[in-house]
Amino acid sequence: MVHPVARHVAVVGGGPAGLMAAEVLATAGMAVTVFERMPSVGRKFLLAGRGGLNLTHTEPQDEFLARYGPARSVLAPSIEGFGPDELRAWCAGLGQEPFVGSSGRVFPAAFRATPLLRAWLRRLDELGVEIQVRHTWKAWGDEPGALLFTSADGSPVTVEADAAVLALGGASWPRVGSDGAWVGPVTAAGIGVAPLRAANVGFRVGWTSTFRDRFAGTPIKNVRLTFAGASVRGDAVITATGVEGGAVYGLAAPLRDALEREAPVTLMVDLRPDLSVDDLADRFLRRRAKESRATLLRRAGLAPVGVGLLREVTANDLPAEPRALASLVKDMPLPLIAPQPLERAISTAGGIQFGEFDEHFMVRRRPGTFVAGEMLDWEAPTGGYLLQATFSTAVAAANGVLAWLAHETT
Ligand SMILES: Cc1cc2nc3c(=O)[nH]c(=O)nc-3n(C[C@H](O)[C@H](O)[C@H](O)COP(=O)(O)OP(=O)(O)OC[C@H]3O[C@@H](n4cnc5c(N)ncnc54)[C@H](O)[C@@H]3O)c2cc1C
Repeated sequence: MVHPVARHVAVVGGGPAGLMAAEVLATAGMAVTVFERMPSVGRKFLLAGRGGLNLTHTEPQDEFLARYGPARSVLAPSIEGFGPDELRAWCAGLGQEPFVGSSGRVFPAAFRATPLLRAWLRRLDELGVEIQVRHTWKAWGDEPGALLFTSADGSPVTVEADAAVLALGGASWPRVGSDGAWVGPVTAAGIGVAPLRAANVGFRVGWTSTFRDRFAGTPIKNVRLTFAGASVRGDAVITATGVEGGAVYGLAAPLRDALEREAPVTLMVDLRPDLSVDDLADRFLRRRAKESRATLLRRAGLAPVGVGLLREVTANDLPAEPRALASLVKDMPLPLIAPQPLERAISTAGGIQFGEFDEHFMVRRRPGTFVAGEMLDWEAPTGGYLLQATFSTAVAAANGVLAWLAHETT
């Protein structure tokens, strides 16, 4: 139901940030229209849910906030205002009682995003939120509050609103909507944008065709990856052109930054993190008569892909000496050539610089325009931190709109 003195708020971008801002605004009685360039909203949200929608994480707040690195101080107030507990309650309120999976990650009951989005869109409809799809935001108009769009048939549409929330996302997976084209009009308006770069991304490796043909698509379970003094333990996956997966994404930011300075960079892989070099060397010393090195390595717990990797990085010249072989298993150098392109990344680093908006997420040069979600200049690892900050900044921006409109009318 729309409030008798409802003001009109345009929310641009129908991803989780835009839809959450719309919910907060409509709940407070505003007349809200969401403009989305695709034929339907929430496409990346649905894609994110395909392998399990990891909404947030249960770790203690201090560790949680540390995941945002240099963006922590700017994001912390919004995450303290609408944090993991509030997000879980919101999810439960939509009929999707969340559950805590492995290592503290939080998922909706259905694991995927589809039932959650369906219930959410029903709620937004009941709140009177209007959704205009196939509307692409192009620029600001000359009049204050005017937003210029093109509609499905390419014709221009001007929208006058009392306030606007831009929630246009990053530039990964452009086929589901966010293509980063907003950077043009935003920078043209004099608003600083840090270059959009791939985050949580895989890396290219110059595999031989023999290795690629045999192992592309194969997971490497339980490895420890180390780069520049930081280590991540988990799983990775061999792809036709390189490596990807959770453990790789955990080091993606420093690897990407190093590759911008020089290439290749060397990622160190521990293929048996539960055994010491001494344990492994002992096992290798007890080699059976006529036992091949591959069998010996398999007996030490290496999967065929691990043995294949060792052969690949030594050009099939595995060390004969037990301790040297053990050291290689524990410290296997893997040269990475380049990050995979931004289109293949899970998320986007870079975006609207923090100095460009105030503590309510209002753009300083554009009073009445608020910004939220992945289009802001922050990055975080996978584990629920991306969606949490997306939702938290959206709630903060929507509350910022309400405070600003209340102030404007007094
Ligand atoms: C494969 C994959 C898996 C993921 N899994 C997870 C996960 O499990 N947990 C997690 O926390 N995060 C995950 N993420 C990241 C998460 O999906 C994003 O961080 C989140 O969707 C960002 O929300 P947003 O609303 O800011 O942007 P988006 O979801 O990108 O939404 C922005 C919307 O704006 C629209 N738009 C863009 N430009 C315009 C324009 N000019 N005019 C009108 N509309 C426009 C887009 O079409 C889009 O609908 C995953 C991402 C991918 C790609």
